[in-house]
Amino acid sequence: MKDDHQKPKLNARTRAVHAGTRRSQYGEVSEALFLTQGFVYDSAEAAEARFIHSERDQFIYARYGNPTVAMFEDRIASLEGTEAAFATASGMAAVNGALTSMLRAGDHVVSARALFGSCLYILEDVLTRYGVEVTFVDGTDLDQWRAAMRPETKVAFFESLSNPTLEVIDIAGVSEIAHRVGATVIVDNVFATPVFQDTIGLGADVVVYSATKHIDGQGRVLGGVICGTQDYIRKTVEPYLKHTGGAMSPFNAWVLLKSLETVDLRCRAQAETALALAQGLEGNAALARVIYPGLASHPQHGLAMGQMEKGGTVMALELAGGQAAAFRFLNALEIVTISNNLGDAKSIITHPATTTHQRLSDDQKSVLGITPGLVRLSVGLEDAGDLLVDLQRALDAA
Ligand SMILES: *Cc1c(COP(=O)(O)O)cnc(C)c1O
Repeated sequence: MKDDHQKPKLNARTRAVHAGTRRSQYGEVSEALFLTQGFVYDSAEAAEARFIHSERDQFIYARYGNPTVAMFEDRIASLEGTEAAFATASGMAAVNGALTSMLRAGDHVVSARALFGSCLYILEDVLTRYGVEVTFVDGTDLDQWRAAMRPETKVAFFESLSNPTLEVIDIAGVSEIAHRVGATVIVDNVFATPVFQDTIGLGADVVVYSATKHIDGQGRVLGGVICGTQDYIRKTVEPYLKHTGGAMSPFNAWVLLKSLETVDLRCRAQAETALALAQGLEGNAALARVIYPGLASHPQHGLAMGQMEKGGTVMALELAGGQAAAFRFLNALEIVTISNNLGDAKSIITHPATTTHQRLSDDQKSVLGITPGLVRLSVGLEDAGDLLVDLQRALDAA
């Protein structure tokens, strides 16, 4: 199999199309889908040798690795600027794998409080069950990060842009504080996408994605990926994931590999539309607030634009009339669909308080700003003018 090595000198959009490509003896143009769980050895001795030591592109079993999955891993690692990546069955398998593979009883973790519900479950309920102590901080306050660090702190964890209230975390600031005690900075970078931010360049050590979101971008498959150094991926993450079964399916890897070819174009178009909609909706009488990092009114607009090229593809809208108005608004939409994915080509709207963040207590919701009137809008690839008309008409109905 010919191996098209990663070419880090090329620009991101070129790497998104070519990095990681492997070609079989047939010279296929489009990446092949190797829908196989096993691999044949030439002899018993060859099988023994591969179990003792396998080179790159010597596969054993799809739970450990697969050529199509390897192409996806190398392509996203190239985009993210890390030495290696490990693909997982879902975003949550990636978050869990990145944390659990490196933590043990007695370790300490500092985490931002504003997290996706399932991330919060891993930090609050799972890690603590195995003797890991977790301190939650207001992720936007560097003094709280500083105060929480201890000599035994092993990990600083946060979502670079939080779900759903779009708080922006200072990646360089937190990384500097965490590195002083030798902690590893793990960033869940779903909302910032692999396109808008050089997360590793800003100081993070590990970047985790739910590939289900912008990387697929068309709402088809689940996937996740952990990007980091060769040492961390091969010696810490891989042994844990290959033996605990969080591997990505080759079919999903193939879908996601092809999706990476268009991720840059899609995310840029979606972010441009998101900005136009945020500007068009700001000041609407039915809305108490439009929260979008690309708007000057966002409390951390300066920080957001310093770390990200664009404001992202997601915004939060706070209906002045509370939950009843939010429900009327959702029900009156004709183009924007009610669902809970994000990063999709189809615009999607969610009422976090009653769905994605329902599990949280009223106190937790209010600390995180998840009010009854708050809705999260993931902007898709539809025409911006059509979307604005749909949103404004539904706001009139609310
Ligand atoms: C969706 C999401 C996840 C989980 O990803 P799955 O692919 O659904 O498992 C993790 N973190 C963030 C920020 C997300 O939005």
